[in-house]
Amino acid sequence: MAQIEFDSVTKVFPGDVVALDDVSLRIEDGEFIALVGPSGCGKSTLLRALAGLEEITTGGISIDGRDVTDLAPRHRDIAMVFQSYALYPHMSVRQNLGYGLKVRRTPKGEIRRRVEEVAGLLGLAELLERKPAQLSGGQRQRVAMGRAIVRQPKAFLMDEPLSNLDAKLRVGMRASLAQLHRQLATTTVYVTHDQVEAMTLGQRVAVMREGRILQVDAPQRLYEQPRDLFVAGFIGSPAMNLVDATVDGGEISFGQFRVPLDGGRRPKLGSPRKVVLGIRPESFEDAAFSARELPTLDVEIVVLEELGSDAHVFFHVDAPRITPEAVEAEGEDDASLVAEERALLNARVDPRTAARVGDSLRLAVDPARFHFFDPRSGASLVDHAPRRLPEPVPVTQ
Ligand code: ATP
Repeated sequence: MAQIEFDSVTKVFPGDVVALDDVSLRIEDGEFIALVGPSGCGKSTLLRALAGLEEITTGGISIDGRDVTDLAPRHRDIAMVFQSYALYPHMSVRQNLGYGLKVRRTPKGEIRRRVEEVAGLLGLAELLERKPAQLSGGQRQRVAMGRAIVRQPKAFLMDEPLSNLDAKLRVGMRASLAQLHRQLATTTVYVTHDQVEAMTLGQRVAVMREGRILQVDAPQRLYEQPRDLFVAGFIGSPAMNLVDATVDGGEISFGQFRVPLDGGRRPKLGSPRKVVLGIRPESFEDAAFSARELPTLDVEIVVLEELGSDAHVFFHVDAPRITPEAVEAEGEDDASLVAEERALLNARVDPRTAARVGDSLRLAVDPARFHFFDPRSGASLVDHAPRRLPEPVPVTQ
């Protein structure tokens, strides 16, 4: 187990490519942290810097309080698992698992014991005498994991280890990985571009963009309290709807719709003001199935996707759609945010909905679940101050 700390780490590749831009992050002993972000945001570079495979330009990295910035990879006592599992084809599973220990001159009996223990843990006990060519993709990936685990390193670094597997196998392996972490409690840094994988595996998730960490939080908090438009749009599937809106007094208007904000969240701003309104698809309900008194919107259904567990209803709003990718440095023109003149919103509703394409549907929406963002900076305008608990009532006798 290990505690890991990145202190203002910068990595500039030749050609002035800034892959890491002042990254500071502390990973606790035994923690499972997921690094997530779009392609090219610097996730792999951060992981490789921690492994010692990439020299950093400025800043420092420490493991258990010891500065490892200039230490060779083999002296860092961490194990990496990559997307391509590169097993030795001529060796059996047993030999593949034990190889790392053999080159470290571990006694034979000890190798046998540890290999068998790890094989049991990973469900490979029956396959120890097979060659990699006689294994399925998922089994090969488990052998690759096993090779890292058998070394009992201080930390595991995993770079998209499941991305070569088909969707069903990934879900199974995801569950095994989570279970494995509960058993071993080894500090794990896990890189993925898949937000579902990050959210389900990470005790904390760090969202990266353009070499920076935008937010590090527990999954539920990232989902409920995204710090900015980018995190809001990246976390959650289907993605949060983002639309141009105006707050005026106690009301918000977007396109043809006006919704009172009584009792719900309100953005911190003077009024009237333009905002980017964020509504998660699941914050809508088909009003016919809504048990609560909520504001309603009558929408025209453009697309209906029935998934069995729920239905996705798409409808137009006569207001521009915003994309988080378009949010650039402060001071840019608001117009640069606009992706489409007419936003297509997605509502996730009860599968029993009577909704049909071309029909009108009454949707209920809970303003308490609205998100508001500054259209210039993309920063959240919701004050997420911790809820105050009621004053304790003195006990009188
Ligand atoms: P992906 O999900 O596509 O693997 P990533 O988030 O892991 O992406 P990195 O591989 O860390 O991204 O790359 C970050 C940035 O650094 C990218 O712009 C990439 O082009 C650049 N980069 C990475 N390696 C090098 C290199 N050896 N030389 C120059 N630029 C590089």
